[in-house]
Amino acid sequence: MMDIAANIASIRQRIGAACRRAGRCPAEVRLIAVSKVKPAEQIDAAFASGQQLFGESYVQEFRDKSSAVQSPVEWHFLGGLQSNKVKYLRGRVAMIHSVDRISLAEEISRQWQKIDQPINVLLQVNIGEEKQKSGCLPGNLETLVRTVAELPRIQICGLMCLPPHADDAEEVRPYFRRMRDLAGEIKQLQLPGVSMAELSMGMSGDFEVAVEEGATLVRVGTAIFGERIKKG
Ligand SMILES: *Cc1c(COP(=O)(O)O)cnc(C)c1O
Repeated sequence: MMDIAANIASIRQRIGAACRRAGRCPAEVRLIAVSKVKPAEQIDAAFASGQQLFGESYVQEFRDKSSAVQSPVEWHFLGGLQSNKVKYLRGRVAMIHSVDRISLAEEISRQWQKIDQPINVLLQVNIGEEKQKSGCLPGNLETLVRTVAELPRIQICGLMCLPPHADDAEEVRPYFRRMRDLAGEIKQLQLPGVSMAELSMGMSGDFEVAVEEGATLVRVGTAIFGERIKKG
């Protein structure tokens, strides 16, 4: 049987150990439980065991599920996002991790102006420069940051990536390191309203390496909730 509370406790311990190896303070790293495809009851169960941040990747599923979840969880939206669906997230998520183009940022800005609230976003970087992946190419990041930073209500908090898949997490380490360097380069520009405090990177197979390389938000699904039955 799946013991969600035990899985979360074990992941928190592993995050703590990775922090110690890297000389970091565990309070710098927040765990996002990625609950896509999983039922509302499992989210409530995880919340009951002390987990507050949850990540979802599909807009329609998020709409249905966020109303069914009883607990006052903090939602993060992680998945690919079409501009015409942004309105369904309005006022319901604390952070959007997947902003990778100006048109999407403009629509987010428009929607959050309607409710007169700020919205925290991360810019998604296609750090492996993979053809099939979304995300801004590293070479275009500075332009994206400068443009998005001008939009009303949008607060850029940092960067997010989905690096190339590898069975050995060590192979992903250079990409995480490159992300940290990129965030450092953007930070040096000292743009008004742009923070590079957050680095969203690391999933079930590689979150410890990500933490060693500076992740502040790790997104873990399978290692908490078990395997997902693939959609579509
Ligand atoms: C599904 C997903 C995750 C979690 O992946 P696991 O390997 O199950 O931990 C993390 N980030 C994003 C963007 C995802 O879509």
